[in-house]
Formats: sequence, structure tokens, C-alpha cells
Amino acid sequence: MHNLPQNPTRSPGLAALAGMKTVVREYQTWYTGRTSAKPPVSKRILQMSSDSTSRVAVIGAGPAGSAAAMSLLRHSGIDVVMLERYALPRQKACGSGLSPWTLKLLDDMGVGDLVRKEAHPIAGAKIAGSNGEPIELRGDHETAIFLREEFDYLLAQEAESRGADLRDEVYVSDIVRSGGDDGPVEGIETRDGSLEVDAVVDCSGANGTFSRAERPGRTLHTIMGWWKGLEDQSDVVEIYFDTSVKPHYGWVFPETDDRVNIGICYDPGNEGPNVKERFEQFIDRRLDGRLDAADQQGRLTGHPVSTSWYAKKLVKHSTLACGEAGQLADMATAEGIYHALLSGWEAGGVLGPLLQRGEEPTAEALKPYTRRVRKKLGMRLAGGRALMESLRTPAMDMLLQFRNFKPARELLTRTFAGLYHG
Ligand SMILES: Cc1cc2nc3c(=O)[nH]c(=O)nc-3n(C[C@H](O)[C@H](O)[C@H](O)COP(=O)(O)OP(=O)(O)OC[C@H]3O[C@@H](n4cnc5c(N)ncnc54)[C@H](O)[C@@H]3O)c2cc1C
Repeated sequence: MHNLPQNPTRSPGLAALAGMKTVVREYQTWYTGRTSAKPPVSKRILQMSSDSTSRVAVIGAGPAGSAAAMSLLRHSGIDVVMLERYALPRQKACGSGLSPWTLKLLDDMGVGDLVRKEAHPIAGAKIAGSNGEPIELRGDHETAIFLREEFDYLLAQEAESRGADLRDEVYVSDIVRSGGDDGPVEGIETRDGSLEVDAVVDCSGANGTFSRAERPGRTLHTIMGWWKGLEDQSDVVEIYFDTSVKPHYGWVFPETDDRVNIGICYDPGNEGPNVKERFEQFIDRRLDGRLDAADQQGRLTGHPVSTSWYAKKLVKHSTLACGEAGQLADMATAEGIYHALLSGWEAGGVLGPLLQRGEEPTAEALKPYTRRVRKKLGMRLAGGRALMESLRTPAMDMLLQFRNFKPARELLTRTFAGLYHG
């Protein structure tokens, strides 16, 4: 093992990623109108301070990675290096909805105000069943939409300002262990070189391969895009439990006063049309010409959502899986930002004290992390499954038929409070 080289020669893989950076930067311009939207993230070479006793590699600079880094940095004697494969800020297919509990958690992490300054506030939700007109629910829950690449970049920069060594365009190819698959971590391999570490927090998302395990859940498919000039854009999110995606849904989320993101998520296990056909069906059926005069911004994009209804196998010796690397997203709603932040924060809260005390982060010693995730996310994950099962039945359509009755409205509001902001 050796530290990443001082002046790493780009491998062919990284040269390809460098080309991708151009694409990412071009993509940025449609919403910012700027050609160089953000200052480049520093590319400091790893210089571990001599008095530090432990090093942790955080793989991925999504919400789970930034939360884990910030949480670890509350403890002394720990060097944190955050490694992100793409150039930051990087695109992420996402509705970018921040629920009330997400905003509250961001407050607890000390970044709530920073986020609120940039995010677009949401005043309520329109919910529609398989057919028919939506019901509009308004309330006093605080909800917001914040374009993910900006949100994630803000959090990553905050982690960096708290002491993380943030390095983008570094692809982690392997976690190296001694004594087989369950042995202690010795280091990580990247395409720039290798690095000795004492522990790894895997925050590599739905496509990550380091923490694959048998878990009870589903991988949902999605496709989405951005438009300016949607007719009748409102200050609420629109959710359609349409037959084209049942028991899942299609959405319209306002990101700014004149820009929306529109998408669908569905279970690919369902027979039927392919993703683009489903999306077109959804637009035709539910938006009814409202996009005719709108300008599409950039291309359609998709990403899997890795969901489960029970948090299982999140730790190994010196390794913790957070966010979608641990399949921690909601089966019914695809909400995952909260789950990523919460699990990342808890991972740092368990690993940090162990390393600070100089103890070995064995799988046994890391078990409290899994317990904390189950305690704090268990009801949500199980509730997501229950909601999804009920959405397979005509229950939602029946409930919507009774929209003018107070108990039905209250039940809908309770069910969809939060991201759907009743
Ligand atoms: C279309 C869509 C809409 C969604 N809408 C919402 C919503 O409105 N609200 C909500 O709460 N959730 C939503 N979700 C879910 C949410 O996006 C995810 O749950 C959340 O991003 C998970 O965060 P994460 O940090 O675990 O992973 P990610 O955000 O995916 O971050 C993982 C990071 O790891 C990096 N990485 C991966 N492998 C490596 C490697 N080998 N080396 C270095 N870096 C690596 C990736 O490039 C990435 O930046 C949506 C998802 C989709 C697909």
C-alpha cells in the first residue's frame, strides 16, 4: 500500500472521466446560464497529518457520503478522505424533494440554513389516483426542492470546510482486506493509486458494488427530465398514481419559479412498455398538453433506486454501508435523501468514537450502527412497503373519491405529509 501519488498520471479510465467532465460542465449551463458555474473542487493530494491516528475513506460524495464525513469529523484523531468518481458538481437524476424530516435533520447537522437559502419552498401537494382530477392538500409542513447537483455539492463543500479531504474524479476500484472477505480493511485501490485506511464508509449509491448483499427489497426504475414554461406551474408538487406506473407514480416538482422536473418511477418487474414509452404515456395521460409550449432543458435521464423494507447486513469488519449502498430508500415513494443523510450521520456516530478510543472497528463493534438505522428508519422502511401494497389495491382511488369528506382528507394528508406535503 502507498499513498496516492503526488502527481498522479491519469489512467485511460480517468482520461475518459476527464472527457465526461466537459459533458457535465456543459450540462450545468442550462440551468445556471453560466459556462463555469462553480469554482473547481480542490484536488489536494492526500497528506495525512502525522498526529492523526486513524484514516477513513468515504466512497461517494452524495448525501450519505457528506453526512458520514461531517459526522466522523466531530471526533478527534480521524482523517477523512472523501472520494467521488465524477467531477463535482455532478448530475444526479432525482426529484430533489426535501421532506420536513430531511430539513430537520439538516438543521441537526448544522446546514439547514445554508440549504434553505438555496432551496425552492413548496406549499403543498396535488395527489391524483389512477384516473380523475387531483386533490390539492395544503398545510404547514416545511418542504423544499433543491436541484441535487447543487444540494450535493453544497454538502460536500461543507464537509470539506469541516476538514474532509474531498477529491473528485477518483474512482475507487477495490477495498483491500487481510484474511479474506470478512477480514479487516487494509486500504482501498483507486485508478490513481492505493491508500492505506483503517476503515471505509461505503456511500457509493444504488450502482455501488462494495456492499452488495441479500436484502429484502426492490430496485425501481426511473426516468425524468427538466422543463421551463410548464402551463399552470404551481407552488405545490403534483403526484399521479397513474395506471402507467402503478403502484408507483409520476411527478411534477417545481424547482424554481419557472422550472420543473418531471419523472416517473416504477417497478421494472411489471410487464408492459419500456421506460420511455411509459414516460410518454404518463405525459399524454396526465399533463394533457401542458408541456406544448414548454422548453425541455437537457436530456431525459434515469437512475435505479435501491429500496428495501428492512435494513439488513450494513456492516463488515471496518466497513459500513450507508444510503443506497445499503439499499436504504423507501419502496413506495423512492424517498432516499433522508435515509442517506441519517445513515451517514449514524455511521460516523458509531465509527468515530471507536476510532477515537483506538479500538478495532470489528463487525461486532460496529453492530450498533445497524441497530440505530433499524431504530430510526425501520418504521419508515416498513411503512413504505405497506403503502406500496395498499397502492396495488383500489384503496387510494376510493379514498380520493371521498375527497370532500374531512376524515378522508385527513387520512390523505397524514399519508402524504412530508415530501407530498399535506
Ligand atoms: C429519479 C429519482 C428521483 C428521486 N427523487 C427523490 C426525491 O425527490 N427525494 C428523495 O429524498 N429521494 C429521491 N430519490 C432517491 C435519492 O436520489 C437517493 O436515495 C439518494 O441519492 C441516495 O444517496 P446516496 O448518498 O446513498 O447515493 P448517491 O446520491 O447516488 O451518491 C453516491 C455517490 O457515490 C459515487 N460513487 C459510486 N461509486 C463510486 C466509486 N467506485 N468510487 C467513487 N465514487 C463512487 C457516485 O458517483 C455518487 O456521487 C430519487 C431517486 C431517483 C433515481
